[in-house]
Amino acid sequence: MENKATIYFYGGAGTVTGSNFLLEIGSEKILIDCGLTQGQHTAEAVNWEKFPYDPASIKMLIVTHAHIDHIGRIPKLVHDGFRGKIISTQATQALAEPMLLDSMELLAHDAQKHGKEGLYNEDDIQNAMKLWEGTVYGKKIDIGDGLSFTFFNSGHILGSAMVRFERNGKSLVFTGDIGGGNSPLLAPASVLSDANYLVMESVYGDRVRNKDEDSREKLEDIIENTVTRRGTLLIPAFSTERTQDLLFEIRTLMMQKRVPSVPVFVDSPLATKITQAYVKYPQYFGDEIRKRAEGGESLFAFPELHFVDDAQESRTIMGKAGSKIVIAGSGMSNGGRVHGHEQTLLPDSKSTLLIVGYQAAGSLGRRLIEGDKHVRIGGKEVRVACKVETLYGYSAHMDSEQLLEFVNTSVPTLKQVFVVMGEPASSAFLAQRIRDYLGVKATTPEAAEKAEIDF
Ligand SMILES: [Zn+2]
Repeated sequence: MENKATIYFYGGAGTVTGSNFLLEIGSEKILIDCGLTQGQHTAEAVNWEKFPYDPASIKMLIVTHAHIDHIGRIPKLVHDGFRGKIISTQATQALAEPMLLDSMELLAHDAQKHGKEGLYNEDDIQNAMKLWEGTVYGKKIDIGDGLSFTFFNSGHILGSAMVRFERNGKSLVFTGDIGGGNSPLLAPASVLSDANYLVMESVYGDRVRNKDEDSREKLEDIIENTVTRRGTLLIPAFSTERTQDLLFEIRTLMMQKRVPSVPVFVDSPLATKITQAYVKYPQYFGDEIRKRAEGGESLFAFPELHFVDDAQESRTIMGKAGSKIVIAGSGMSNGGRVHGHEQTLLPDSKSTLLIVGYQAAGSLGRRLIEGDKHVRIGGKEVRVACKVETLYGYSAHMDSEQLLEFVNTSVPTLKQVFVVMGEPASSAFLAQRIRDYLGVKATTPEAAEKAEIDF
């Protein structure tokens, strides 16, 4: 058996999104993730390009988690000839279908504006789901030719996984995205201490989180202050993980009577579907939460909570008298139902807009954090008089210190770290720290670069 493998960094190299790596051993080709590149527009042209490999030649696609920048091009891969197996955890499999359907609509809408065809249709999604198999953390899966792999919890979103490949007594780990242990629902990422090669994310490779930020207490203060002013609390939220984290926290605060009982609206059809999937897979929660869910506790149900279905109802929420909490997508205020609510809420000095996640440059959310007092939404000029608060304690990624510590646990066995899935400055900073502090070879591969490893 030849002790050699090649890793091709086709996507997610030199950039955060578009995760797509190919592992080639002899004549076998295995893909890790097949994600959408997300930039200023949903319909980035690069997503329509031909794959740099023949999809029919790929034996297996291994998926780390259900975020669209890791799964968003899978239906196109299938459309273009892929007939191998798709493998992920069962939770990732369950989240993937609603995520892909939602993304299909956004892509079609954006593509139309640029005079392009949609990237894929519903049949392509169904065909992908037919090739898909769900498995669990910790189960070794044989691929043949001495190669096997195992999924480990990465603590990022429900079902998210790191992939550890093994061959010839050596190990190669693709981290996918790794959580920093801030989710009230998930267990922290597994510790993998014996990797020989690491292909690792670096979204926050150059940032350290403020450890003083006690998420639940700050959320409690913000709710209390807004209700005291008789205002409304609007939270633009991401549909997967952040929304469920917040619902669980608000439920806890209301049950413990730490905040007043006011109506809570989830105004996002996707977030509603994702929450339903969360309820079906309690085995992917951390131990304590899993036991509570398996004991019959409904983690995302409480009397004040209402899931809003249709767009008609969405338009009536802000008109309802009294204080309320509204969670609506999109998370960066780039579109979605949150826009309608922002037009009403932003000029209201009694109300609060709460930003809970990373806001890309150029997004409306970013301008609001930066203190803009006049913004344009849907062609209308809107004055900003409400309070704008931020709460980053629920971040779903490890920060620079945690990433370095993650690498540190494998130092005795590590031969090389490939730092990917970050902005170039962020990846370069982390690679430098790995070299300087840990004395391990660390590189930042560029898009389409390849690396040969002894494996
Ligand atoms: Zn992710």
